[in-house]
Amino acid sequence: MEPLYSGKAKSMYETDDPSVLRMVFRDDVTAFDAEKVDRIEGKGRYNAEICASVFEYLEGNGVETHFLERTGDAEMLVERLDIYALEVIPRNIATGSLVRKYPFEEGQELDPPVVVMDLKSDEYGDPMLNDDIVRALGIAGPGELEEIRDEALRVNNLLLEMVDERGLLLPDFKLEFGKRTDGEIVLGDEVSPDTCRFWTEGGRSLDKDVFRFDRGDLAEAYAEAAERILA
Ligand code: ADP
Ligand code: UDP
Repeated sequence: MEPLYSGKAKSMYETDDPSVLRMVFRDDVTAFDAEKVDRIEGKGRYNAEICASVFEYLEGNGVETHFLERTGDAEMLVERLDIYALEVIPRNIATGSLVRKYPFEEGQELDPPVVVMDLKSDEYGDPMLNDDIVRALGIAGPGELEEIRDEALRVNNLLLEMVDERGLLLPDFKLEFGKRTDGEIVLGDEVSPDTCRFWTEGGRSLDKDVFRFDRGDLAEAYAEAAERILA
């Protein structure tokens, strides 16, 4: 069966129910606008199990997500959403693009957290947005944007509690939100080491930075992230 959409790391398939999609986590890994590409056996499975566990935890704490059920090692059923062209990035520790683009110190604590909204567009290189650009591009109305930001901060607080119990730090992560046909805003896409930075207390990365910066074995890092998060 042809996927409805095949992105850099996941493929989305239609199902018999038009409101439900099958989300398949592939072993493909890309970084730096897909300039660096590889396949890491087992990555899709680790991401699917971490993502399902995080979505179940968030749902259990009152966050509406698109997650329905796991249907295989590296796949799950999700509600079809109209995804906002936004990458919503809560940041607790300055690193990555924040340090490259702004005079923050690497590792500087951000308290209160900083929420960055980027345009989800490979063509334009995911530029950072502001409220006026979001409105002028018709991406989301002011009320919607406020709701998305509040929900991202709520998810951040819950994830911080979760990782803290597991001896991990959560410098930053990317969320995508979408709308159900009834207009309700729901957390979509994934939460996994592909989209989150997880650091051990000793400062080791258990996320895609291992691949980005050749810091060792990606499958081993994801296995360790899974072991801790699923514990
Ligand atoms: P990318 O498109 O950035 O290469 P992926 O490989 O992760 O990313 O592809 C998954 C795609 O599916 C993304 O474009 C994402 O926005 C989209 N998506 C995620 N959840 C849903 C959903 N519930 N309904 C519709 N589309 C979704
Ligand atoms: N991120 C993501 N997809 C993107 C861009 C960023 O999942 O297209 C995540 C990334 O894994 C990190 C956070 O968002 O956890 C912040 O990324 P940053 O802006 O620092 O970009 P990077 O340094 O990866 O270029």
